[in-house]
Amino acid sequence: MRLRFAPSPTGYLHVGGLRTALYNLFLAKQSKGKLILRIEDTDQNRLVKNAEENLISMLSWAGINFDEGPHITGDYGPYRQSERLTIYKEYYLKLIKTGHAYPCFYSEQRLEDLEAGKLSSEDATIEDAVFQDFNLSDVLKKMETENFVVRLKIPSNDFIHFDDLIKGSIKFDLNLINDPIIIKSDGFPTYHFANVIDDHLMNITHVIRGEEWLPSIPKHILLYQSLNWSPPLFSHLPLLLNTDKTKLSKRQGDVHVEDFLKKGYLKDSIINFVAFLGWHPGGDSKQEIYNMEELINLFTIDRVHKSGCIFDIEKLNWMNSIYIKELELKNFIK
Ligand code: GLU
Repeated sequence: MRLRFAPSPTGYLHVGGLRTALYNLFLAKQSKGKLILRIEDTDQNRLVKNAEENLISMLSWAGINFDEGPHITGDYGPYRQSERLTIYKEYYLKLIKTGHAYPCFYSEQRLEDLEAGKLSSEDATIEDAVFQDFNLSDVLKKMETENFVVRLKIPSNDFIHFDDLIKGSIKFDLNLINDPIIIKSDGFPTYHFANVIDDHLMNITHVIRGEEWLPSIPKHILLYQSLNWSPPLFSHLPLLLNTDKTKLSKRQGDVHVEDFLKKGYLKDSIINFVAFLGWHPGGDSKQEIYNMEELINLFTIDRVHKSGCIFDIEKLNWMNSIYIKELELKNFIK
């Protein structure tokens, strides 16, 4: 198995991110496979200074060590998407030449209008459809001198059927999706395009990520199909919720792993607690205290819950108290 954790350096490590990274680690260790760190930094406007360093140091603090990544290299690099632009170019040109994607040309004025919200992206998509019928050699020539974005052609009147290892089988109606942008006017790929190209080229066999990416699946599957590639197996993890069942947010409490550390929660209790967010080993056992090695041995994807999971701070407090009581005196004093 080859698995990856693919954070965007747009902030510090979130508890949801820690859970994703842990589940990837558990499967990589169990299968004696490889765990890869890939930094998804294609949205240059949202980069946060030092976020990459922080992510790497927090993951290492948690005992999540990678076999490949930007900080240690490997055979499938570069592992930072901003360093892979020439690779993406090869594939978007291929998609244009095979008729699966098309460039749309923009005047500076139009780009400014789009940015200023004077032109909705919905209207822009409809207007852009005129570019679909352009002659290929004209288009390739125009791309050398003019501003453009590249859009993926979504076939109409069709469905995508998809099997998720957690959510089961899902059907998406492609009539509900506009032709998405895969290359932006700054030459950077969008998340969807870079993510698919990299998962394939890095030989990723299993993708485990948050449920918020499930709506993107039809675009991803279409990209795989357009490139004649078979997709990896996907598992989308249930959302983390506040006690009022809204999506876990900073407004209602801490969400970054670092916040919990600063408040004195112990590493082992944070990991134990986070591993149980939306997963349970099953069976009759009431045991809830497990160390990393036990978690690695016990974890299975089929026991991950389908629906959202409440982040219950009381339970973390209880778990932390158990770990504190077990501390040796010298560590307790420290
Ligand atoms: N860059 C995405 C994120 O930060 C990763 C999504 C994925 O794993 O495909 O959540």
